Parts: sequence; structure tokens; C-alpha cells
Amino acid sequence: MTRKAFKIAGEPVTLGQSKDIRLEISETYTGDKTCVPVRVIRSTKQGPVLLVTAAIHGDEINGTGIIHDFLFGTQITLLKGTLVLVPVVNVFGFESHERYLPDRRDLNRYFPGTAGGSLASRIAHTLTTELVDKCDYCIDLHTAAFQRTNYPNVRADLSSPDCRKLATAFGSALVIDGKGPIGSFRRSSTKRGCPTIILEAGEPWKIEPTVMKIGLQGIKNVLRELGMIRGNIRRPPYQVFIRKTTWLRATVGGILKFHVSPGDFVDESQPIATNYSILGAEQSILKSTVSGIVLSMATMPAVKPGEPICHIALVSPRQLARYEKKLNNAKNDPHNQVQVDLATSLALVQAH
Ligand SMILES: [Zn+2]
Repeated sequence: MTRKAFKIAGEPVTLGQSKDIRLEISETYTGDKTCVPVRVIRSTKQGPVLLVTAAIHGDEINGTGIIHDFLFGTQITLLKGTLVLVPVVNVFGFESHERYLPDRRDLNRYFPGTAGGSLASRIAHTLTTELVDKCDYCIDLHTAAFQRTNYPNVRADLSSPDCRKLATAFGSALVIDGKGPIGSFRRSSTKRGCPTIILEAGEPWKIEPTVMKIGLQGIKNVLRELGMIRGNIRRPPYQVFIRKTTWLRATVGGILKFHVSPGDFVDESQPIATNYSILGAEQSILKSTVSGIVLSMATMPAVKPGEPICHIALVSPRQLARYEKKLNNAKNDPHNQVQVDLATSLALVQAH
């Protein structure tokens, strides 16, 4: 797509220019402007416009760390196109270390929003018209919700060829198919012609070094796919497109000890965790009901019956055996170290 006059919040950014812009999205109680910080980097040559956003849920700051690392930890030269980086979308939530907006609404359910709607809807509208509608592709960075951690995975509507292209290139081992919830940023943006994928990685309230590496590598891979930077795409040792997932739930109120880590391959009936009642009288071993890969785990070891403790992506035993072989082969390959290191760095407290 060609655009000579690229403008955000009325500020023009010319070819070859890099500019920091404050996009006004709302006001504080005292009437001061509330602005989203945006960095725009333009190559001297026209090309695709890639938007990278983080902290649409204000407590999910791994993505903020990824964008920060991208800006200060790497020297990139754009061959063509424009990069629009937004390290904090939900500035209200970011200020208070919370997922939601001050009115308790989830901003990520109000897209595309309307100019005269609720606080959430107005913010969504500004972000849609000032950012999404001016970009060709988007990567939105998330973490697990409160008291959970996610093994890095990309989520995308694989029926959209462009989303599939971005998701494959990003290079996450796990890619989960789906359009996203109604009103979500990625669903709305993709529908409006800005194919959007999300990364779900790590925990809220943290900036985790291994998640940084995966995120950074993923963004660079997408830039390579779009011809915006030099170099070859770093592929993961294996990549699986997931269409079905399932949650394992606690059976008694008490304490939880895990036998697996995020990213582990599990067989059907394999013990996932032991659920102890508080005085230890009851001990139930929670077993996987499927064969698959551990996608997400509870980080809070105190549980009540029915609470979700482990999210498993369904993968057939035959596929698992194939991926295990590929993962083992990759252990000696320095290019694949990021992926191989993941499981150990994200490991939680294990049962004896
Ligand atoms: Zn999120």
C-alpha cells in the first residue's frame, strides 16, 4: 500500500522520519489529557505499515517490555514500509496495574467502538480510526490473565490468508485458530482490513526474559516476511495449528502441586497436578483427559473446586511423537535455543 502523508493525531510523519506522537484517547478526572504514546518509524521507501500494540489489558506488560527491547535492544534498518509501535494501549489500566478501565470495562470487548459511546467505546473508536485504519497488519501482545501463565502461543483467524501468513511467520510453536471474542481488537481490526494476530505469553505484572526473546524474534520474523527488514525467518523446531483446547479443573478446595510445566507434552491419563485438601486428608491426582501440549497453568496454588488449573491444546499422540523428535534434534541447534529454553524458564513449582 502506498501512503506519502502518513498522519497520526494530525501529526505527519514523512518518509525516512522517526517520530514520537501522543495520541489523545480520553481525559483524567481533573480534565487533563490522557494520551497513548506512539513511536512511528518510517523507511525512506514506501511499503507495508505494521502496527505492534501491547497492554490493551493494562496489567499485561510483557508486550510493553518486548516493544521496549525492540526499540533499545536492537538495531533495525527498515528496507521499506512503516512501523507503528504502541507499548501501552490501556494507559488507565497500566497506571493502576489493572486489566480493566476505571469503569471496570474490558477495553478489548468494545472494538471498533463509537465516538459518542461509553468510555471504553470512545477509546476503542479513537484507536480504531487513528491507528488500525491507517495500518496494513497488526501484532497485539498479551499475557495470561491474573494468576495464570501462558506458554507462548499465537492466536489468529487462520481462515484469513493474511492472518495465517503472519501467524506462521511469527514462529511460535503453538498457533491457535480462532477469530477472537466479539468486540476484541483483533477480530474487529481483521474485519476492517488490518489482519491482526495476537501473542499470548507469560504472566501479567511481569516482564519475563524468555518471553522477551520469543516476542522480539516473532516481530522480526513478521518484518522479514513482509520484506521490511533483511534476514531469514527463524522457524521453531515444530509448529502446530491448534483447533481444540480443554481446561482441567480442581476437584477440592485446597492446595495444588503441578507435575508438568508450560509447553510440556502430555499423554491422556498423565498426572497433571495433585490437588490436596488443606490438612492433606484428601489427595486427588488430576489427570489429563486428552493427549496434547500444556498451554496455560494456574500460578496461584490455592484453589476451589471447579477452578481452572491447566489449559491443554489437543494434539494427537502421533503428532506429539513427531514434534518430540524435532524438539530433541533442535537442542543442539543454537538458532532454536530460544524455543528449547522456554519450558525450563517458565517451569512452575513441581510436586515431589
Ligand atoms: Zn490480554
